[in-house]
Amino acid sequence: MATYPVTVNSDTHFFTDVCKNFDYAAQFTKHDAGLLDQIKSCNSVYRFRFPIRRGNGFEVIDGWRVEHSHHQSPTKGGIRYSEMVNEDEVMALAALMTYKCAVVNVPFGGAKGGIKINPKHYSMVELENITRRYTVELAKKNFIGPSIDVPAPDYGSGEREMSWIADTYATMNPGQLDALGCVTGKPIALQGIAGRREATGRGVALAVRECVSVAEDMQKIGLAPGISGKKVIVQGLGNVGYHSAKFLAEFGAVIVGLCEFEGAVYHPDGLDAEAVWQHRQITGSILGYPGARQEFQNLAEGLEQPCDILVPAALENQITIANVGRIQARIIAEGANGPTTPEAEEIFYKNGGIIIPDMYANAGGVTVSYFEWLKNLSHVAFGRMSRRFEENTNSNLVNMVEGITGVSLTPTQRAHIIKGASELELVNSGLEDTMIAAYHQIRETWKGSRGIDTLRTAAFVKAIDNVAMSYQNLGIWP
Ligand code: NAD
Repeated sequence: MATYPVTVNSDTHFFTDVCKNFDYAAQFTKHDAGLLDQIKSCNSVYRFRFPIRRGNGFEVIDGWRVEHSHHQSPTKGGIRYSEMVNEDEVMALAALMTYKCAVVNVPFGGAKGGIKINPKHYSMVELENITRRYTVELAKKNFIGPSIDVPAPDYGSGEREMSWIADTYATMNPGQLDALGCVTGKPIALQGIAGRREATGRGVALAVRECVSVAEDMQKIGLAPGISGKKVIVQGLGNVGYHSAKFLAEFGAVIVGLCEFEGAVYHPDGLDAEAVWQHRQITGSILGYPGARQEFQNLAEGLEQPCDILVPAALENQITIANVGRIQARIIAEGANGPTTPEAEEIFYKNGGIIIPDMYANAGGVTVSYFEWLKNLSHVAFGRMSRRFEENTNSNLVNMVEGITGVSLTPTQRAHIIKGASELELVNSGLEDTMIAAYHQIRETWKGSRGIDTLRTAAFVKAIDNVAMSYQNLGIWP
């Protein structure tokens, strides 16, 4: 969890934007208009207020939980802690969760929560009180539970808040064996899962790597295929942005720019994201980082510097018709939800770019949350039952091959071959498989015969088809 912005765009048209994208994509499908309407609407919007004690007085807190679609159970989505959160935003984010889960074949409906506070302005005890009371409000109306609705972290929340939610829910449901499956993104010590913290950023990096690997598409936008040496600017050095930068650099990309709400730093030869993050932790600002060649106090300028790929990983409405013309990147990979407005997207594609849409690009988090939820229901860590067995089997195989061939492996080679998979390795492998498979499914839809013009529309079409099929199979009752 990172520090918080002083300025964010609070326009309340995010849900309308999501619906606009949906309606546009729906034209490429053949579903009944009524069914499309059902898929698009938010099924349940729960808005509530509760008091907390502050100093000698009280303060009233606004909260929301929106369950967008019940075509699968449970519903799933993070809780945003932000003073700018509003009902429109939570509805939009809940809808995106439905489409996101459908695109990566995660069997959940979409949901999202919001608490209208700036967490920076509250003590840890106050934050705990707010989080626990929020959980009680959800429980009172049956808006939380391992088979009902499963929250996760989002902007402004992290493992600590998820622990409080899990503990509150478990306390209210004594003896419920699966109680800890009521929330994901928990610390490992509280039945979280290895790899969840970095999953969204890792997923963004995998999405980018997959996109730039397609030579035909890269040729059209004037880039050489392959991730190696691609210049990247990342906006937001929080959970998603930091890990996106880290894994993109590991894959061979060069992080040339990093933007936070206080400004941006840039170096055409590359920045060390970890060192910039450390600098910000110590000084409280990204500015003044000694390894930067340029810095910008006007944070918008940071996005407009030369690069191949821009990863917005902060908040929505960051790339609009006002600035899209100045963006130099050829690819926008949406780490954040809703960072590009529909109007800006149209211009960006016209200018010869590609946008890897949020509902796919940042789906790594919910994918690994799904693995965590499975772990919670099965009450056993992945790999625990099989790791040693795999190692023994592999060891026997290596012994046999060595015996037949008369060639002995070095200890390093042997260790590498016989090793059984750890939970982290299984999670990362499941995530990689999901991101690669989903990219090519979306791309096939994009390039198929329906005349679809963007990756986002293709992702929406895939999601709509998937959700429509669930509804058709379920039927309508009574
Ligand atoms: P976070 O709170 O960890 O980090 C967000 C960062 O963005 C903070 O460091 C903040 O200072 C910075 N920021 C805010 N406004 C900015 C601006 N205008 N310019 C530059 N930086 C700015 O939040 P997060 O969990 O990384 O979430 C970021 C985005 O990713 C959100 O849109 C969220 O919905 C989305 N997302 C998060 C997850 C997840 O697993 N955490 C999963 C999917 C999508």
